[in-house]
This record gives sequence, C-alpha cells and structure tokens, in this order.
Amino acid sequence: MENERKTVDERQKMTELERIRHSCAHVMATAILRLWPEAQFAAGPPVENGFYYDVDLKHRISPEDFEKIEVEMKKEIKANHPFEKIVVTREQAIKDSESGRLGGLGERPGNPSKFKLGNLEAIPEGEQITYFKNGDFIDLCAGPHVMRTGNIGAFKLTSVASAYYKGDEKNPQLQRIYGTAFKNKTQLEEYFKMLEEAKKRDHRKIGAEMGLFVIETDLVGPGLPLWLPKGTVLVEELEKLAKETEFQAGYVRVRTPHIAKEKLYLTSGHLPILYKDSMFPPMTLLEEQQRLRHEDLLRRKFAIVDELLKLKKEDPARDSERIQGLERESFEISLEQDGLGERYYLKGMNCPHHHLIFASQQRSYRDLPLRLAEYGCCYRYEQSGELFGLMRVRSLNMNDAHVYCAIDQFAAEFTAVNEMYQKYFKLFGIGKYVMRFSTHDPSRLTGENAKYVNEPELWKQTEDMVRRTLIDSKIPYVEVPNEAAFYGPKIDVQVWSVSGREFTLATNQVDFAVPKRFGLTYRDRDNTDKTPLCIHRAPLGTHERFIGFLIEHYAGNFPLWLAPEQVRVLTLGEEEPLVHYAKQIVNELRTNFVRVEADFSSNKINGKIQDAETAKVHTMLVIGGRDLEAGNVSVRVHGKGHLGAKPKGEVMADLLAAIKERRA
Ligand SMILES: [Zn+2]
Ligand SMILES: [Zn+2]
Repeated sequence: MENERKTVDERQKMTELERIRHSCAHVMATAILRLWPEAQFAAGPPVENGFYYDVDLKHRISPEDFEKIEVEMKKEIKANHPFEKIVVTREQAIKDSESGRLGGLGERPGNPSKFKLGNLEAIPEGEQITYFKNGDFIDLCAGPHVMRTGNIGAFKLTSVASAYYKGDEKNPQLQRIYGTAFKNKTQLEEYFKMLEEAKKRDHRKIGAEMGLFVIETDLVGPGLPLWLPKGTVLVEELEKLAKETEFQAGYVRVRTPHIAKEKLYLTSGHLPILYKDSMFPPMTLLEEQQRLRHEDLLRRKFAIVDELLKLKKEDPARDSERIQGLERESFEISLEQDGLGERYYLKGMNCPHHHLIFASQQRSYRDLPLRLAEYGCCYRYEQSGELFGLMRVRSLNMNDAHVYCAIDQFAAEFTAVNEMYQKYFKLFGIGKYVMRFSTHDPSRLTGENAKYVNEPELWKQTEDMVRRTLIDSKIPYVEVPNEAAFYGPKIDVQVWSVSGREFTLATNQVDFAVPKRFGLTYRDRDNTDKTPLCIHRAPLGTHERFIGFLIEHYAGNFPLWLAPEQVRVLTLGEEEPLVHYAKQIVNELRTNFVRVEADFSSNKINGKIQDAETAKVHTMLVIGGRDLEAGNVSVRVHGKGHLGAKPKGEVMADLLAAIKERRA
C-alpha cells in the first residue's frame, strides 16, 4: 500500500536525497497555501524519483500553475527557514487539527485539517507525535527533514494526477502534485536529460521501428512476445555467446520440457504456497477411466443442484436434514473431482528439472562441480498491471545454469560466476554496476513469521563465503538484510545503461536447502554421502529483459556482431559489371554467415544510404565504377560516416574478424 505509514526504523534509514525531497514537499505545501490558503493536505512522502503531496482544493491545479507555485517555493527556500521539530501531546494535535492549523500557515476557523486528523488516528498509541515547522507552515510529520529549507539545492514540479485519500476509492479524491528535488542544479539537469534520452531509447518504440518484436494481446495474450526475424537474430546471437562462454567455463548443456507434474514443485517447495501466485494455474490431465468418473460426478452434481433449488423453494425448515445431506454430498464430490487426474504446471523455473538430472545417476566427488546449463523457457504469471514491454513478461527465456559443488569448491565456483558476469559487462560496455547481496534475518527462521529454511549454521557459513568472495574480488556490492531467497543468500545485479537508466538484470543465488529436499547426494572421498551446494546463476538474465536493456543501452545501434542487418551492399548505379562485382561481395559475405542485404536499385546513392542509416544497418559497402576498377570497396559505418575505400580482401577480412571477436 502506497499510503502505509513508514516505521520508525524505515524513517531513520531515509537517505539524504529522500530527506531533501520530503522537505521539498513541505516547501511545496507552503507555496500552495500562499496561493490558496484553504488547501487541505493529506500525505506527502518521498517516492522513487521525487516526491508528491496530496491536496484537496477546489481549484484544479494544472501544469500552467506550476510556475507560480515554483516562484513561491523559491522564496521559501531563499528565506532558509529551519525545519523545527516540535513534540506535542495527542490532545494538542487534535486541537490543532480542529482549528485548521495543521498543514496550514495559521489557524483556519471553520476549515479543520480533516486529513491530518485521520493521519493522527493512524499513529499508534505510545508513539511520539511531532510537528515540523518551516516559517509559518506547520505539519503533522515524523520527519526526518534536512536542517533548513535552503538545503534544497534544486527542484522542479513535474505532474499532477488524482488519488484517493489513503488509496481507498471510498474516500474523497485528491489532487496529487508530483515534483522532484536534487542536491544541486547539475544533478537536476542530468536527471531530466536522462529522462529525455530514455524516452528516445524506449525499447518498445525502437523495437517497433526496427521490427524486433511484437506483443499481440488479442489472440496470443499479454506478456507473451513474438520475436520477429530481426529480434530473433538478437536472441540467437546471445544464445551463441552464452553457449560459447559456458562451454569454455566447463558447463554442459541439458534440455527439459515446458511442463511438469505438481509433485515436482511440491518437492522443490515452490508449491503449495511460496511460488503459487507466480505460476500459471495448473491443467488437469484425466485418463479414460477418470474422465468417465468425472462425467458421472458432474451429472450427480447437477441433479443435486436441481433438488436443492426445489427443496429450498418449498419448505426448507421441513427438509433441513435432507438439504444438509445434499450439501455435504456436493462438497464430497468437489473433493473427489479435485483429486482426479494429474495436475501439470507450466514451469516457472528450471531448477527442479535440473535437480532431477543431477539425481539421474549415482554421483561421486569426481563429478563435481557439475555445471548444468540451459536456455530454459519459463512461464510466470505476472499481474496484468505489472506487464511492461519486454521488461516484465509472462514467457521468459532464461540464461540459466545450476552449479552443483562441494562446500570447499564453493569459493572458486562463485568467483568464476562473478568473473563471467564481469566478462559480459565488459563486452557490452556496461561501466557501472552493483551487486545487491541479500541476506537472511535470523529472527525469521522459525515461528509464525518464518521466511527462511531453519539452518542457522548453513546461513552463516554461506553468507560469510559470499561476502568474502565479493570482498576478495573487489566487486562493488551493497548488503541488504532480510531479502534472501528462502533457500539461501541471493545477489541481484543492477546495471546502468549508457544513458544512466538503472536496470536489474540478473540474479545469482546460493541454495543449500532444495538439493536436500530432493535427496541429492554425491559419494565423497571418505565413502559417505553428502548433499551438494547449488549455485543458481543467470548472468544474461532472460532474453526478454536483457534485449530490452540492450535496445535502450545501444539505442538500437547494435555492434556489428549483434546487428540484425550487419552489412548492406549499395551500388552507384545499376550497370551490369558493377552489379556483378557487388553480387560477388554479397555471396562471399553470406558464405561466411554474415547477415547481408543488397540495394542495387537505380535510386540515387544518397537516398540508398539514407535508407540504410534509418534501418540502423551497421556497415554499408558502397561500390562505384572506380572501386570496381581498383578492386576496392568504400566503407561507411552507421553513425560514423565514410571510412574511405580499401581493397576488397582487406575489408572482408576486417569484417569477419570484428564479428568473430565481437568487437564493440
Ligand atoms: Zn514531513
Ligand atoms: Zn534455479
């Protein structure tokens, strides 16, 4: 819930930027009151990219009003009023609400601070009640704030929307005024530049322009992208990259089906509860006998419904015993129906399947580490409101692998996985990244609130190992308590695209619990059976999200190895010898698996070049009469312009080498 009260603990953790933004919300309220003294304020928290304040006001605030509100805000910031904290009793706070003083510049007889009164009720008995005062403005607020209004370096109002008080549509509708604030003007300007750039680079927009994918909601369904030929090139190039990288790192490949019996997920622990909401509902498969029984039960159920309707209409008191009996029978039929047949689920994750591949033969310590890799297709039931382009989908192809190892192999394996991440980051020119290391909460191993498997020793051991590896390999990371997976510590990898937008791309998890649930063992040197650790890793995340990221990262201008159309050969005219020479070049490239197209039309060369530039073709080979005579090719690169004429052989060799080496 957006309007849930922050706990004392959460408030103390508010960053400096959040304090600036929340303080700016107070300053905005101050300014709005100077213009419309009757305004009533509800909640004004910092949010992801700024802040808002909900206001009840007859005048509809529109973006045209922003400038005059901002002028008043600047005055308040220039006055550099301190944010004073005032502790009051509940009685005092109620009195001040009734007089209209809270969320106001002074008392407002006949216009009580109705929403503040409601907010006051939400403060638990025993918790301190505080005001924050800047200049004439007093607000019921638990803080924290910056020291003075002058600490707000730069701000801007951004939009206005409507919202219900406390998010409940039974409550009055309010105007929600959004803004953002930063430490200084440079940061504010950078932020808006990034937003503008992000809009231009939106993967949905570029995806449609370049013909990479479509999401057909009418017949196929929301969140189920169809990859067009050019998008499929991206998918397959990434798979090729992953397969080569994983092969060199000692992985072996496996393949598993898209569905499995319910029992599999009950064994893994994803069902009945933990993962249920993320999976598509099951499908039930009935054998012939079960199908007949199912139809019998259905017929009986219809008969019961008919009889019940009749009895209830006539004299329900007289027939109460019969009615109860029928209702019980109907319930029993439902139970039997539920138990009939076999329930299958679309797979939400590949691990349980891989665990069974591990279990398919007797394993010894000599088999470890065993690294099973698969570009597995999974299905997750995301709420339709959450679906977003390629970033949040319902069918996803994951760069998945599970590394089974002994405890003493863990550090080396985990380091190797991290090195693989870094290798990819370098390849894609991702300069900024952070690993979010999520650990468990020891108070939630047992009891009603239990969230993690109850293995305190293993938690400590694996978390220490992960932390040590991160420190030793000098990888930037932040530690986040109480966000681990139920079976072990987890790392989410956050990256920033060149335009500065943040993405969470991949995860890396340690699992010391599920292998045990599957009874996975290996025979150790000392002839005892031991349970392996399992590392779940997916450095390239899913095709969907990773390609969505790459589209925005490159703004569709992919490097040669990845570009859907790598080369286009253009002729200066359509004379036969020229076209013949150009065709030879096309054939030679195609023989070497280069994705090449040709434009030998009689159109003017500038128009042909323009077409290729618009289609974001990486390299254009322009061929005129002089090139033909000299055995040359003129090279033009998308976004870089002409690079000049070179001997054909040299150009070919260079193109092939750039593709093979996956040059940037
Ligand atoms: Zn406040
Ligand atoms: Zn997994």
